[in-house]
Amino acid sequence: MSTEAIAAPVPVRARRWVLEGRVQGVGFRPFVHRLAARHGLAGWVQNRLGRVVVHAEGPPAALARFGEALVREAPPLARPRIAESAEVPPQGMAGFRILASASDGEARVHLPPDRSVCEACLRELEDPRDRRHRYPFVNCTQCGPRYTIIERLPYDRARTSMARFALCADCAREYADPGDRRFHAEPLACPRCGPRLRWRGPGGAAEGEGALAAALACLRAGGIVAVRGVGGYHLLCDARSDAAVARLRARKRRPAKPLAVLFPDLAAVRRVAHLDAAAAGALADPARPIVLVPLRPEAGLAAGIAPGLGEVGALLPYSPLHHLLTRGFGAPLVATSGNVSGDPVVTDPEEAEALLGGVADGFLHHDRPIVRPADDPVLRPVAGAARPLRLGRGTAPLELELPRALPEPVLATGGHMKATIALAWERRAVVSPHVGDLEAPRARALFERLAADLQRLYGVRARRLLHDAHPDYFTTRWARAAGLPARAVQHHRAHASALAAEHPDVERWLVLAWDGVGYGDDGTLWGGEAFLGRPGAWRRVASLRPFRLPGGGRAAREPWRSALGVLWEAGLERPVPGGPADVGLLRAAWARGRNAPRTSAAGRLFDAAAALTGLCPVASYEGEGPMRLEAAAARAGGAPPPALPWRAGRDGILRLDWAPLLPALADTARAPEARAAAFHEALARAVAALAGRMAREAPGLTVGLCGGVFQNRLLAERCLALLGEHGIGVRLPVRVPGNDGGLAFGQVVEALHAWTA
Ligand SMILES: [Zn+2]
Ligand SMILES: [Zn+2]
Repeated sequence: MSTEAIAAPVPVRARRWVLEGRVQGVGFRPFVHRLAARHGLAGWVQNRLGRVVVHAEGPPAALARFGEALVREAPPLARPRIAESAEVPPQGMAGFRILASASDGEARVHLPPDRSVCEACLRELEDPRDRRHRYPFVNCTQCGPRYTIIERLPYDRARTSMARFALCADCAREYADPGDRRFHAEPLACPRCGPRLRWRGPGGAAEGEGALAAALACLRAGGIVAVRGVGGYHLLCDARSDAAVARLRARKRRPAKPLAVLFPDLAAVRRVAHLDAAAAGALADPARPIVLVPLRPEAGLAAGIAPGLGEVGALLPYSPLHHLLTRGFGAPLVATSGNVSGDPVVTDPEEAEALLGGVADGFLHHDRPIVRPADDPVLRPVAGAARPLRLGRGTAPLELELPRALPEPVLATGGHMKATIALAWERRAVVSPHVGDLEAPRARALFERLAADLQRLYGVRARRLLHDAHPDYFTTRWARAAGLPARAVQHHRAHASALAAEHPDVERWLVLAWDGVGYGDDGTLWGGEAFLGRPGAWRRVASLRPFRLPGGGRAAREPWRSALGVLWEAGLERPVPGGPADVGLLRAAWARGRNAPRTSAAGRLFDAAAALTGLCPVASYEGEGPMRLEAAAARAGGAPPPALPWRAGRDGILRLDWAPLLPALADTARAPEARAAAFHEALARAVAALAGRMAREAPGLTVGLCGGVFQNRLLAERCLALLGEHGIGVRLPVRVPGNDGGLAFGQVVEALHAWTA
């Protein structure tokens, strides 16, 4: 046998992959490096404005296995997608290298959200032999801050607020070692070289462990501590102490709005609340959101946590610091946003001491700058899934795909309350975290900053602005003054389109958009609307019987006004419990239509019911009336409701007549709980009746429920059950809030379809 036939050299081939999707800030490049080593390949990997380019060379079989593993074995937080894959000439490389990020090329940027501490880092935090034992800023490629520390993209340490901390020799070695799980972990830090805690408060100033101990001592003594977290400050106090909670409420001037509670672990939540699978799963999600869960009767929490409500907003520790605090305290802690009512969460130490000085007894600061705020995200389990009520730390920026490409980049400015911003270009839409209520100057300043910030980070300049149809919203005036073409999108169509875009498989919709007030086509205040059709082509087919609100905008905080509005509209003259004794002047103004705008808002009808049952004549926070009404209804059994008729108006639009509800709502012989339950049941049956009627006209339709009113779990779940009996499918929001926090995204979807139809 000839020797030449034995060892034909293995050919060297080279291949290049371009990966898109979530590939930055998730340990993707180190993963590629390890994978190449495992398959014995040479080459390089590089960040290029949000895309990752991989060049590998070696034997063809190894290249093929490597290519398959790039997506299949990617790190848990990564969501790579192969955009291009092509054979290229080999470069004769030895070894595999991570090249410095390139900042040229087109924008395919992904801004990674903040991630809660991972299991591996948690083990180090608790290991006395580890050099990061009890270090409150431990992190790795799989966890830690991202969105809140990034100053510019591409994502590298030098472009984050961690740039000011020079790595010590040990950290530098971990950062540079491809075999280490902190290889290129951009925010990596240790007690020697990283951020530190600082205490200001009772017992004097302290640092590090001393600061943590002082904060815990203050909490144990019943004090209120402002703690700087990942996206801003929290106010913490003992959640079992009536006195501490009462003090927090008095100082924050927040008499009744529910307070979130931070628990050491899932077992501690189970001791005070009933958890179904959806709630338990949501609490343990890497974003560590606040999840609204039903309280057990003898929960042992202070009565003032959520007055009049049957639920508590629970969350688990998300940062190492929060783990240390909850382990150290050993019991649930109130953890409410460190802000002044309605304002964005406070992020800077000086600002915190200035704005929260009258609220907190002490401040637990740290020196890792927060580049932009991110409040806690909030979810509520409804119909077997946790639905978003608020986007924030860990869930935003929310990246969504559009059904087709936009002709040019747009910026959608959303609504007025629960503001968010959406930037969209090509087939991408990005929704910002919760900004706040735009009555407040600080929220307006943050809105303007984020609008510029998002465009700069993603390298996209909006060519057109989208805004609500309401002429007086801050966001409308801002969009019209910005010097770009601006387009108005009607409020409830934006709600409907946001929902529809989340369910692209649905072809025929009947969407009910029920909320507080939003500006309608006819200049009246809508909010009980039903649309047939699809995005860009919604036909309003039904609404509530309109009524006039005595005192206009003041009705939002004074449900007794809505109660008088429905009574007077129905021709009934009777006092409302908790309302003023003398309503003569108001009645006269209402009769002349002065400061008494017409509305068809379901939210105001819920307010009216909350006042008529005596549950909430005056609200101390937005939505208090409907929330108390739902909680009361959930405590009662099924109640026989009055039937509510849908009547066709001259304009062809069906109007739900709520007047038959009024005698039952005002019937003081029945408990408020029973009246509230009958109210919910009557509306759920009315929704089912409308859908049944529309399904005869448009067979095969699917019902969508959106707008703030359908965050009501009881109402949504009863609608679902009743429509199920009719064989009609129902869809609810999945990732985009169904309330005004979803308006900006809905504006993008609505404009896309109207524009490219
Ligand atoms: Zn980690
Ligand atoms: Zn270090």
